[in-house]
Amino acid sequence: MGLLSGQLAVVTGAGRGQGRAEAELFADHGASVVVADVDTENAERVVASIRDGGGEAVAVTLDVSEEAGWEALVRTVEADYGALDCLVNNAGVARSESITDETVDGWQHVVDVDLRGVWLGMKHAIPLLRANGGGSIVNVSSIYGVRGGAGDSAAYHAAKGGVTVLTKNAAVGYGPEGIRTNSLHPGYMRRPMGPGADEPEADGDENAAPSHGPPVEAVPLGRFGRSSEVASAALFLASDLASYVNGVELYVDGGYLAA
Ligand code: ADP
Repeated sequence: MGLLSGQLAVVTGAGRGQGRAEAELFADHGASVVVADVDTENAERVVASIRDGGGEAVAVTLDVSEEAGWEALVRTVEADYGALDCLVNNAGVARSESITDETVDGWQHVVDVDLRGVWLGMKHAIPLLRANGGGSIVNVSSIYGVRGGAGDSAAYHAAKGGVTVLTKNAAVGYGPEGIRTNSLHPGYMRRPMGPGADEPEADGDENAAPSHGPPVEAVPLGRFGRSSEVASAALFLASDLASYVNGVELYVDGGYLAA
């Protein structure tokens, strides 16, 4: 069944990993997908793979932290499609420095991509969603957008916490126009963030601890997550299955935050 048949979705950071899994699943469900990434080569590879599978996709080079890039993306969407049904703000970067170890430049980069990028995405997508008569925004936060962790990754935690609350701001502000905005909070994944493994299911041993992660026993389900499982939750939030879901934090963490 195509949960997104005939719809247009923009997925940022879709050149690898979780964003790639989201773009491919959305295309499998009938969406035309704008595969947006700062890494053009990876974005084009994902588009080729979607087209090989009979889906529709187009690659766009986008640095989510730059407003000019979003303006260009909006022009492309308006010219080629007219309106937008769904935005997944997935692009992200991470650093592990604590508050006292972080540098001004390091802080700035993470906050620019992970928080300012989400704000800019919503700022420019909302008029297109409005033109569509409504739609859905999925902002990828983290379990570290709601808890403090081990005192490391200060900029990442701050940015993701910002995403969590900015999502609710959008849910309240644009809900009256039929635009649903929700945050997605992945927990510990089999495939760590970063360029190491570029296939969504190039996941390692499901019980091997991620580099900064807890032992697998800390996860009630007794295993780490897969990119495809985050993508399924994004699909739910994007689709009409979630037609009355607005402003929620959806944890995809095997129960880690509940423990
Ligand atoms: P994840 O585990 O979330 O998949 P990755 O680091 O593997 O993490 O993937 C993040 C994606 O976001 C990559 O494709 C990367 O190129 C992309 N990305 C990083 N920074 C930006 C940016 N400023 N604008 C757009 N995409 C970005």
